[in-house]
Amino acid sequence: MAEKIRLATASLAGCFGCHMSFLDIDERILQLVELVEFDRSPINDIKTVGECDVGIIEGGVGNAENVEVLRDFRRHCKVLVAIGACAVNGGVPAMRNPFTLKECLEESYIHGKGIENPQIPDDPELPMLLDKVHPVHEVVKIDYFLPGCPPSGDTIWTFLTALIEGRPIDVAYTQIQYD
Ligand code: SF4
Repeated sequence: MAEKIRLATASLAGCFGCHMSFLDIDERILQLVELVEFDRSPINDIKTVGECDVGIIEGGVGNAENVEVLRDFRRHCKVLVAIGACAVNGGVPAMRNPFTLKECLEESYIHGKGIENPQIPDDPELPMLLDKVHPVHEVVKIDYFLPGCPPSGDTIWTFLTALIEGRPIDVAYTQIQYD
């Protein structure tokens, strides 16, 4: 990976907080663009992933579209990274898992506080929800996991530069410890 690498990122069932943390690398983003070329990512709004060296996935897998995007990333990315608690273990979206999908939808759209015109959305364009939210490794093989909610910009920088430069990944314990 000594040459400029091609990098894609996507947010599945996530809040974009991990992507925002990515931007916390601040002015180092100028160094990053010397090292990488962006493929699909929210930064450039490219919608489909091409052949890439590294894919970074934020968010758990909560609907059929998430499954499709994740499999597409696995097919096209040599190295796939799960970033943040939602991708690593389901995180916040997986808090719906103790309940049935019906219970979640009814609480959100029928019985919840302040709801007017209760109706569960059923537009055919909406992706089908899965019964449970899954961490990404339950759907495809993941090469690296970077936990945190979100991992800090410094942690992402440490990880990514080591990966890009082909150095051993050596993230300090304090960078991935969240007690
Ligand atoms: Fe958002 Fe945290 Fe999930 Fe990242 S891990 S997508 S910051 S809730």
